[in-house]
Amino acid sequence: MRSRMILIIIFLLAMGATFLFRQPHSPPAGDTWSFRDHLSELQNLTDSLNTILADTIETRVACVEEGGTLGWLLYSTGIEGDRYVNCCEILIDSLGWTSVHVGDTLEAIYERDKLAAVRARPRNSRGYYCIEFDGTSEPSNWYWVPEEQYRRLRAVTLVVRSSVWESIASGGVPDDLTPSGHIVTVRDSVREIAYIKGLENELANRLFVYDIDFYYDVQPGDSVWVLLEETRYPGSSETTFRRIIAAKYNFALGGMTEAIPFFHQPDSLAPDGTAVILDHYHRDGASLRTMFLKMPVPFGRISSSYSDSRMHPVLGYTRAHRGIDYAAPMGTEIYAVGDGVIITRSFSGGYGNIVRVRHANGYETGYGHMSSYARHQEIGSYVRQGDVIGYVGSTGLSTGPHVHFEMKKNGSYVNPATEILPPANPLLESDLDFFRLQLPVLESTWGRMAQMNIPAPPVEDTGSDITSAE
Ligand SMILES: [Zn+2]
Repeated sequence: MRSRMILIIIFLLAMGATFLFRQPHSPPAGDTWSFRDHLSELQNLTDSLNTILADTIETRVACVEEGGTLGWLLYSTGIEGDRYVNCCEILIDSLGWTSVHVGDTLEAIYERDKLAAVRARPRNSRGYYCIEFDGTSEPSNWYWVPEEQYRRLRAVTLVVRSSVWESIASGGVPDDLTPSGHIVTVRDSVREIAYIKGLENELANRLFVYDIDFYYDVQPGDSVWVLLEETRYPGSSETTFRRIIAAKYNFALGGMTEAIPFFHQPDSLAPDGTAVILDHYHRDGASLRTMFLKMPVPFGRISSSYSDSRMHPVLGYTRAHRGIDYAAPMGTEIYAVGDGVIITRSFSGGYGNIVRVRHANGYETGYGHMSSYARHQEIGSYVRQGDVIGYVGSTGLSTGPHVHFEMKKNGSYVNPATEILPPANPLLESDLDFFRLQLPVLESTWGRMAQMNIPAPPVEDTGSDITSAE
């Protein structure tokens, strides 16, 4: 029975590799498109080969229990003498399997009573170590075999009740996320959290970070449509989130924002697993990215807005507040809101520890009251949008952990919240033509998978200017 399993796995691996590198000619029709269709065919092939080989191959398996060691695993599967020494050496020194845990398994495969291969499978890993023998006690080859996997598309419709996280948790996770279909073990719940976090992060911190303030703009009744890609591991019956292909966010209060992929290969318009997405755009080819992020901290809360006069909480008299304060927990990462060069990185009076960044087009941003700076940066360092430049603190004149965020244009203070921020590079010319060709293919595939018409914003109102109600 065990050798039969091994054979099936070998063939699945071989066939799986073929499927992985093959591009389907038409868009996938359902949410499973690679394995199940071919499984019975594969089964027949495996069965007949299995009959031929059954009496020549024997597999001995051992599983580590409390107190088990690598030596015990090898002895239990009949590996002794020089083979034992060689296996230990290769597994530990060459393959780096330095510690054995409860649940790890080792399989020794014998062909006509001769050791042919050893497979060591650490529990919870995505593959196994393999050592091959060619009839002598000297191993002929050793390597790591990653677990067979394939990608699949899934269309998800979410309705927001309280938060995006909650809506993903209640309607966005696949039924076959875990082997049992339920959250039973610690591993299951880790997998579930990783899935939700991955999806939420792509949605909130990457695709829509410029368009939607996930603290203020999200309302109960908002709808989210996502076409996403998952990695399926048939060996362990598990699924992980891979990436978002396309997404739409519809506000209950009116308005919609979209993230439409631009695929690299013009000849593979179908959003299959092999399609390379260069970037996401709005329907009209405008970039999702703007020159600056909306906020310098993730999920920050505005504790004091920009104003020309306010009562200063520490000084006790009226003084203009030419910046925005975002309250966030001590130590929260602070991002550079745009690409630029660090021009200040020091303690400066009421600002406490402050970093200032000079950007293109005469802009400059400042981030005050930091508890500490990011490592490996200095004055003159080039930072990209979203790079961490420091951590939230309360240094200088401050009543609690927050970042004082300010922006200057050509030397004068401007309100970052109302400053018009030019979108980054839109699609042009032939790229835009390809993008327009790809869009209807994407939307029909998406609609078919979601079994509904995925809504689109009205034609005359497309573009980056329909976003949130602020
Ligand atoms: Zn401030």
